Amino acid sequence: RPVGEPDYLKGLNPEQREAVEAVDGAVLVLAGAGTGKTRVLTTRLAHILATGRARPWEILAVTFTNKAAREMRERLAAILGPEAEGLRWLGTFHSIAAQILRRHAEIVGLKSTFTILDTDDQERLIKQVMEAANIDVKRWTPKALAGLIDHWKNRGWTPEKLPSSEGAGFAGNKVQELYRAYQERLRVLNACDFGDLLLHNLTLLQARPDILEEYHRRFRYILVDEYQDTNVAQYLWLRLLGQSRGNVCCVGDDDQSIYGWRGAEVDNILRFEKDFPGAKVIRLERNYRSTAHILGAASGLIAANRGRLGKTLWTEAEGGAKVLVRGVWDGEAESRLVAEEIERAHRGERDEAPLAYRDMAILVRASFQMRAFEERFVLMSIPYTVVGGPRFFERAEIRDAHAYLRLVQSPDDDLAFERIINTPRRGIGEASVQKLFQIARASGVSALAAAREAAVTDELPARTRTSLANFLRDLDRWTALARDTHHARVTEAILEESGYTDALRADRTPTAQTRLENLKELVQSMDAFDTLQAYLEHVSLVMDMDRGPQADAVQIMTLHSAKGLEFPLVFLPGWEEGVFPSQRSLDETGEKGLEEERRLAYVGLTRARKSARISFAANRLVYGRWTSQLPSRFVDELPEAHVEAVSETGYFSGGPGMQAASSRWDETPAFGSGYDSPGWRRAQDRPRPAAPVNRKAVIEGEGRLLAVSDPQSSAFARGDRVFHQKFGYGRVLVAEGSKLTVAFDKAGEKKVLDSFVEKA
Ligand code: ATP
Ligand code: MG
Repeated sequence: RPVGEPDYLKGLNPEQREAVEAVDGAVLVLAGAGTGKTRVLTTRLAHILATGRARPWEILAVTFTNKAAREMRERLAAILGPEAEGLRWLGTFHSIAAQILRRHAEIVGLKSTFTILDTDDQERLIKQVMEAANIDVKRWTPKALAGLIDHWKNRGWTPEKLPSSEGAGFAGNKVQELYRAYQERLRVLNACDFGDLLLHNLTLLQARPDILEEYHRRFRYILVDEYQDTNVAQYLWLRLLGQSRGNVCCVGDDDQSIYGWRGAEVDNILRFEKDFPGAKVIRLERNYRSTAHILGAASGLIAANRGRLGKTLWTEAEGGAKVLVRGVWDGEAESRLVAEEIERAHRGERDEAPLAYRDMAILVRASFQMRAFEERFVLMSIPYTVVGGPRFFERAEIRDAHAYLRLVQSPDDDLAFERIINTPRRGIGEASVQKLFQIARASGVSALAAAREAAVTDELPARTRTSLANFLRDLDRWTALARDTHHARVTEAILEESGYTDALRADRTPTAQTRLENLKELVQSMDAFDTLQAYLEHVSLVMDMDRGPQADAVQIMTLHSAKGLEFPLVFLPGWEEGVFPSQRSLDETGEKGLEEERRLAYVGLTRARKSARISFAANRLVYGRWTSQLPSRFVDELPEAHVEAVSETGYFSGGPGMQAASSRWDETPAFGSGYDSPGWRRAQDRPRPAAPVNRKAVIEGEGRLLAVSDPQSSAFARGDRVFHQKFGYGRVLVAEGSKLTVAFDKAGEKKVLDSFVEKA
């Protein structure tokens, strides 16, 4: 061991250093965002290797994403050189579990060549199993059972271990039988699903103490990042592998637990101390990432959660800008604002140094929010990438919808035909599609023309012919509809009548929900174009400009995939009730879901190093209708001292409960005035009545109105008869500060801000 201190230890604070050097025994690092947990874990790994305690292949290191694993490997290569290449067991839970399973597959009845099914195959297989058991798959969907099975696997339950209370009432209490049959089918097919990777690991390690011992010998040290998001199966797996040596180091932050919906359990943190007696618990309190204002805002926000383990955070990075909170007119105004600020930051704002595009991130709650930004960036030639998923127009559901429209627009579009002829599934199999293309080639016509032929001849099986004829009839109807109906409505009709949205609705997984939202967003975005052709042209333009990876690009991603990352400048758009917190969390999951949303907000804010900018729109198209939005409760929860509320046209001082909203007279969508292409209708071309004047509202700017109302003293009470500028007459049901719930005579029940209501 060299004399003196190795470089990699320099600069660590005493607590970090303790966590790095306490290599023997169990260690739990429990600390807030940006305190250097990941850095400690990486340095600890380097330290273990540098001091000769283990060789690279004797260390098990688990990260949350493959990207994080790559980054850790790179950092280690920088410290250690080529030795880092030997880290065979550095990866995600899934990738490591798959590696282990391949080596011992026969113990759980598989061959080492087993395939890992995607969710589509998984569902199809479950459907077969259900049908074989005479279950009505309309009533009990395969998707729902797939969700249950996933949940059980995350908890480490094989069919044998399934508690009898599980799935009560589902499919006539046959869940255990179905689960067992499904596992059996998988075995026969030499396949497993994602949940099986961990579950089979548990089974085999429990069944074979000799193999378990082999891994005990091998893994001298175990390290786990983002520990708060492990589920029960993952925890049991760690415990099995780590308990004999006890050299397990986990780092995490209970306030950043954001995968509860996927079975993660914060309780694993408490279990750790129980299962690894004598575990050293180290708390890190100094944040190295963010300025005091960002940290203050994030800490104040998360304080609203109950049942936290609690911690202190401080930073030496004094000063810096306060967290900006902006109310804007609508989603388009929001994307315009963000794009302009990105350009300004890129050029170098005031005396600030210019920022590279890659130093800026937009973190959204749901992927449907991305479209407005993507389009704006394309228009302004700002390079961007969507991290952790395809860009909006590259998503499967969006491409599917476009394929339908292309076929309506041009019957010769064979690629479009091929894409949707059996999407959603309508019983026109691969062989029949091949046949159609053969006919098309033979007679030199389009695939669609070939289909028309095949529908009336006997080249295809009778059942396929019927499906095909039905499809052709639908297509003709949509084509006729498109002649005199706006294409946004045509798209809605297609998605409904083809069964496309039904298929997604039946699907209870979170991704299906996302895809439905994306489709709604798609329909809304079409409203701005006069013709279908103009719209499709616009799409190909966007797709074209999208091409190619960009080295220096603005990062757009969901809050979930931003975990562990950091950026100098972070935009947090869409902080509105129903967007963030999401409608689903408000409707379905109660206080628990809301707390998870709040942790997500905490994750978002703490990604920022220098500047965090929150925004919310007063109007948004939801389900194709303009609705007035309420600012997120999270906006109200931000501590005043760390926040600066700004309008688009000037500054005003906000406080806790600061509200901003706008009002409009006409229901027609107003798209951003910056759009000059002929396809866009311009908002200011339409006549607009004079701005409303309200005693409590501060209204700024022409066209883009921004009102600030006084939250403390609402002049309204339950039972008041009121008049609202947009919704007309109604009666107040609930008055909560400046937020009113009003039963309108015509518009129904709505939440509105009191600044746009008058006593009638
Ligand atoms: P998160 O909870 O968001 O995952 P984390 O606790 O893992 O955060 P890191 O990402 O490890 O935090 O560190 C945050 C930032 O602080 C990084 O840029 C890191 O390089 C820096 N940092 C950590 N410790 C120190 C230190 N002792 N001196 C200087 N910079 C540090
Ligand atoms: Mg980290």
